[in-house]
Parts: sequence; structure tokens; C-alpha cells
Amino acid sequence: MQNLVIFGSTGSIGRSAIEVVSQFPEKFRIIGLSAKKNVTLLKEQAEAFKVPYLILEDKEQAEKLKQSLSYEAYVLSGDEGLKWLSELEEADLFLVGISGLKALIPTYYALKKGKRVALANKECIIAAGSLLKEIAKAFKGEIIPVDSEHSALFQLLKCEKKSYIKKLIITASGGPFFKWDLKDFDKVTPELALKHPTWQMGAKITIDSATLMNKGFEVLEAVELFDFPPQRIEVLVHPQSIVHSLIEMVDGSLFAHLSRPDMKIAIAYALSYPERWPLPYSPLNLKEVRELTFYEVDFEKFPCLRLAYEVASQGSPYPLILEAADEVVVEAFLKKRISFREIPYFLEKILNEFRFTFKPKERLEDYLYLYQQVISFSEEIIEREKR
Ligand code: MG
Repeated sequence: MQNLVIFGSTGSIGRSAIEVVSQFPEKFRIIGLSAKKNVTLLKEQAEAFKVPYLILEDKEQAEKLKQSLSYEAYVLSGDEGLKWLSELEEADLFLVGISGLKALIPTYYALKKGKRVALANKECIIAAGSLLKEIAKAFKGEIIPVDSEHSALFQLLKCEKKSYIKKLIITASGGPFFKWDLKDFDKVTPELALKHPTWQMGAKITIDSATLMNKGFEVLEAVELFDFPPQRIEVLVHPQSIVHSLIEMVDGSLFAHLSRPDMKIAIAYALSYPERWPLPYSPLNLKEVRELTFYEVDFEKFPCLRLAYEVASQGSPYPLILEAADEVVVEAFLKKRISFREIPYFLEKILNEFRFTFKPKERLEDYLYLYQQVISFSEEIIEREKR
């Protein structure tokens, strides 16, 4: 029986994780849950599993939740709450499903306690990969990727010696506009961009999928997780989202990981690793899929991917800057302050104009501070140009 903590339990990853965990009541005990604002769902989850430790962002909300529970629980709030829960001695396994760089807090402290972290958040590994890897190494913590492509690569890389591998190939659904002409991109609205063809996810990541920024982040994530240079990581458009990643061997052979596009499979693998447990969901049926197609990425149509490769070669802190800028720029698009085509325009502008005064290295706070600086700077730039 493992004691499990889920950060971001009311988000799409968190909800899927709870579904997975419910299938294995003899394997896990949920001892901690954190949510940002969704008190109703957090309460429901807490009551269902009688979870002893709970975190909400807001202090007052946390107090109210504590009063309303039918059992005695320890309810904390804010960043201190996140830190406290991630240092919990009795926890064995952490699932980090929080979005944004905030995930750096629980990931860092859990690794520092030598724990295993099933990491569904890409922001923290992109922005502070070297810090997290150092901490994991020093304290014998472990990162198991949950992002579907990286879970696939993690599994594929187990099969072969690294020196036999030439390239990592990450697939991309291409998003809803893959087949559109560039000239029609002016007509893209948030409503259209929020309709992802194969995955059900939060708003930010769905927009990132439409611009292929998400794929760019996944390249950066793979650079950090697997220590491959960006030149040896390729993106391949594959609209069916059945093949999640491939590795190309030095002899030209390709190994691929295939499954239905369902995050529960990757979550279950990360939680059961190094074991593999039978899942009650229907397996991939290739006779039903029938066709798997692959296309090259058009970098002109999707300049966000180019920006990601650029910051990958520049190294830290450029990936962090791109990521923070993207948070502000996507928010501005969702609020209809900027157009779809202006997303890469603003990202590039921020990358070019932001001047950092220091490079974060060993201190967690420095990463969070620089991130905040980029956020403010990005807001100013949009404000200035869109006045
Ligand atoms: Mg992914």
C-alpha cells in the first residue's frame, strides 16, 4: 500500500488520477490533495477517500472547507501549504498535476525528501530542469514523466541503450488548424482554438496545442528529462494521437509507443512504475483505427515551435522566459486582446526585449522571481502595444 499525494486534484490530470486510483483501492491510500479554487470538487474527493491533508490556495476558503467536512482533516493554504504537504514524511508517491510554474514548489521539495514524483507538469522541468535533476540526484528522488509523449519515450528508452539511439521523435496531433491555410489564421477565435481534436485538457494547454507551443514545450521537456540535445529531437505531426512517440535507432529502425489517447494510461504507468498493472479500459484496437498518418511540421505556419527550438539551443533561462511570456500572451488571446497570429509575434518580442539581470541556479526562489519578472514585463508589452 502506497501513500499518495495528488497536487492539482480537481484539474483534468488530477481527476483522471483519482479515477485510476479508484481502480486500485488495495494499492493506494490518498493522504493528500491540493486544489486551487474548486472547493466543491475538492470537498467531494476528500469525503470520498477521507483524505487527511488538504490544501487550497486561499486561506479563508481553506478554513471554510475544514468546517464543512464530515471528518477531521488538516487543511492548509497557499504556497506554504504546498511546501508542507510535499515534505510529508509518510507520503511515498506524489502526483504533480498543477499547471504553471507553481508546480516547482511541490516537485522540488518532494524530490528533496527523496520521494518519487509522477510529473504531469512541464513548466517546472522546462524552467528549472537542471535544479530539479540535481536535487533528485543528491537526495535520491525520482521523476517519472506523465505527459503522454514523455511517458512513451520513458518506456521506449528503457528498451535500448542510449548509444544506439539516434533521435527521439515526438508526435503532435497538429491541433485544430493543422490543415488550415496560413492566410486563414486571421479568422481563428478562442472558441475555435479551444476545440482540440483528440485530447480533453485545460484552456491554456489547448491553446498551446493549437499554436504548437505545447509541442515546443515538449521538446524542451524532453531535452531536460532525457538529456538529448534539441537537434536530436524531432516533431512529427500525427493527427490520430495513437503513436505517442518514437525512437530512431542508429541502424534506421524505429520503435514506437501506441495507445488510445487517454491520459489515464500514462498516469497509471507512472503510479505503478516499475510495475505495469492491468487496466480496465478497452485496449487500442488497430482494426478500428485503420489508418495512422504522419506529416511534416510547417514551421512557417507554427512559428511557436521554431521559438522553442531556438530557446532550447540558447539554454537557461531562455526556456523559462518563453514559458512565462506564453502564459501572459495566451491569456491575452483568450481575453481577445490579441489575435491568434499575434501569439508568436508577442512571444518573440518578449524574448528579444526582456533583459534578465541574473541567471537562476541553485535557489528555487530565484526561478519563481525571474518568472514573475517576465510575467510583469510581458503584461507591460501587451499593454503598451494594445492601448
Ligand atoms: Mg503531451
